[in-house]
Amino acid sequence: MFTSVERFKAAFLEKLETMYGKSFRDSTARDQYHTLGHMVREHISSRWIATNEKNRTDNNKQVYYLSIEFLLGRLLGSNLLNLGIHEVCEAGLRDLGIDLQDLEESEADAGLGNGGLGRLAACFLDSLASLSLPGHGCGIRYKHGLFDQKIVDGYQVELPEQWLRHGNVWEVRRHDQAVEVHFWGSVESLRSGDRLEFRHINSEAIMAVPYDIPVVGYEAVAVNTLRLWNAEPLPFPPNQKNVLDYKRETEAVSEFLYPDDTHDEGKILRLKQQYFLVSASLQNIVKQHRERNGSLRNLHEKIAIHINDTHPVLAIPELMRILLDEEKMSWEDAWHITVQTISYTNHTTLSEALEKWPIRIFQPLLPRIYMIVEEINERFCRELWDRYTYDWKRIEDMAIIAHGLVKMAHLAIAGSHSINGVAHIHTEILKQREMRLFYEFYPDRFNNKTNGITHRRWLLKSNPELSGLIADTIGTGWIHDPAKLQDLLAYKGDPAFQERFFRVKQFRKELLAKRIEEQTGIRVDTNSIFDVQVKRLHAYKRQLLNVLHIMHLYNRLKEDGGYTIHPRTFIFGAKASPGYYYAKKIIKLMNELAEKVNHDPQTRDRLKVIFLENYRVSLAEEIFPAADVSEQISTASKEASGTGNMKFMMNGAVTVGTLDGANVEIRDEAGAENAFIFGLTAEEVLRYYQNGGYRSSDYYHHDKRIKKVVDQLVNGFFPNADAEEFETIYDSLIIQNDEYFVLRDFAPYVDIQEEVGRAYQNRQRWLEMSIANVAKSGYFTSDRTIQQYANEIWGIQPIQLYR
Ligand SMILES: *Cc1c(COP(=O)(O)O)cnc(C)c1O
Repeated sequence: MFTSVERFKAAFLEKLETMYGKSFRDSTARDQYHTLGHMVREHISSRWIATNEKNRTDNNKQVYYLSIEFLLGRLLGSNLLNLGIHEVCEAGLRDLGIDLQDLEESEADAGLGNGGLGRLAACFLDSLASLSLPGHGCGIRYKHGLFDQKIVDGYQVELPEQWLRHGNVWEVRRHDQAVEVHFWGSVESLRSGDRLEFRHINSEAIMAVPYDIPVVGYEAVAVNTLRLWNAEPLPFPPNQKNVLDYKRETEAVSEFLYPDDTHDEGKILRLKQQYFLVSASLQNIVKQHRERNGSLRNLHEKIAIHINDTHPVLAIPELMRILLDEEKMSWEDAWHITVQTISYTNHTTLSEALEKWPIRIFQPLLPRIYMIVEEINERFCRELWDRYTYDWKRIEDMAIIAHGLVKMAHLAIAGSHSINGVAHIHTEILKQREMRLFYEFYPDRFNNKTNGITHRRWLLKSNPELSGLIADTIGTGWIHDPAKLQDLLAYKGDPAFQERFFRVKQFRKELLAKRIEEQTGIRVDTNSIFDVQVKRLHAYKRQLLNVLHIMHLYNRLKEDGGYTIHPRTFIFGAKASPGYYYAKKIIKLMNELAEKVNHDPQTRDRLKVIFLENYRVSLAEEIFPAADVSEQISTASKEASGTGNMKFMMNGAVTVGTLDGANVEIRDEAGAENAFIFGLTAEEVLRYYQNGGYRSSDYYHHDKRIKKVVDQLVNGFFPNADAEEFETIYDSLIIQNDEYFVLRDFAPYVDIQEEVGRAYQNRQRWLEMSIANVAKSGYFTSDRTIQQYANEIWGIQPIQLYR
């Protein structure tokens, strides 16, 4: 079907006609997209079947990556690339008068995630498959992914996202593998010989139906599975419940993705989602293991279960429930198997993001699971007592249940054999501070796995121009072994290579400029520096610092006619959680600043501010290749890793950043001379938090530049915002003493940005920096990360499959 252009064309036309019962002439772009999608999925099928068959017969160890989010983006382009059939499809469609890129753009993003955590899960799936590792994703098939963002009068407006509206060509519904998940009810205990047994009774069951999506690796023969669970009612409602109520409540479980990634929401529906994901996945995994092995005694030798943050932490008590209640194991045996099976990644040190569930919500919803958590807690506290006798404070601080709350991170640590942070500095902060007590108790469980991104999507697919140049220069070995990108270092001072590299960047800037004009009507100068900050909106990520700096530049340009800067285009993209008042105000502020700056004849040739609405994976793929400067300016110690920083680096943007998360390793890899680092260090920030000693008002009063921009938030400077509009922001800086040290880092940020402007004007020097970043970005591929997980945590081996 894909072996020659002619065969492809014939197959495509036939498929289109049989699928839609209409002629090619009458077909729409969407019909054509679906036709191609179906052809590709069929093409994948035989390898998918062969992989599953091989996994079954070899009975090799499998890993299951449980995540409440998978931010996949579009799949057609990456599947064509990974299958090596992009060229033949492109050529065949061109003959038919179809632009493949148009078809790709008619695919809706699978936006089943908020940001970095969900995108990491998606990059990991790509790397697992590309390394032929037997690893599968388990998630929820949300009917609505993260909301679509519109900007109206400068404000964010949220619209329900509808990715399934036209169907999903990649998924296969597997009704035969549906399982029941039970909520509510009570627990009955009965004696059986010398054993106390428990039964969950009068529960309300719902059905979990899996939808499988094949995960194809790059030129790999193996095809893994992403299994997304859909919540559906059973044919008859339990407990004489009203049919319609039951249907509505059931479907709500997989209806919406929670649109917040750093606040513990504490809503009962969220806990239902978490248990739904975990229970369905574990029942399914265990069933398959039983079929292959007869018993669960060797589960930990054949299965690794990884939990992406604490959202799926109920995998621990759920596995215990299965081993105790269904398999009738002793507590000790069940616990040993559980701990050896499960591993956990921590993604944050923000205390407000650490999940804690009130017992009064947890216990009634999941009565048997709660009992098991209580027992885990009791045994854990007893162990602590043996080691720290009479140290009540320590035991209380480490307990899994305390003060009416279940602490999910504590449960995750007690029930996993491996706990990892996501960047070197983050893991150190976990060990030395946030989780110090746990590190002292379980020193061998803690380890670091610095995040990575798949270079196949974020370079090869999204930046074919740069990929082509790299291939022309050093060959294609880097595609399989990204560390080979280092070979580019030999060319970083080569004027001919520099010139070609420059032209690639300019070309991508022109493409983005077109997109910007389409979306905003604003024309930007592609000779200006494209200075980009795209990521979720959060106080700790400090978009505000960037905004205040732009206001300062504007002020200087207005005040001092002789002040010259290299023209800059500041580009933002960010969604704010709908309930996050402060974050939404920052979005309004960005848009008001754009309005002010872009239309002022005195500054508009040198300064532009662009807000690109609805930041998501497909838009990100257009932005990174066009960026000159990567803004990574979080308050040091707050960003666990970041992965946007890696995507920028891989596309030749130079980092302006704090020593936070993976920025530290980016600087170490690229070399300090190829990054612009500024601001407080994590140690300094943590010392301030511990000892006080920071007064933001001192900075306000002693730095005229700061006073001016902060006053402008509330003095009518923005004509379309009344005096109260930005009061919250003003208060956060002055009244609430600037928790994220925006004013403290303002002066160093202004200084480093001046350096950036000067550096850009030396084209040779800038290109050297930019090339060095690409050359050293190989370390940040998720292939490296996944290989480390596979070797050091999961103990899995590649599948031996032949074409
Ligand atoms: C990579 C990515 C993120 C994470 O960005 P950070 O800068 O690391 O916060 C968020 N959203 C999308 C769409 C991404 O592609």
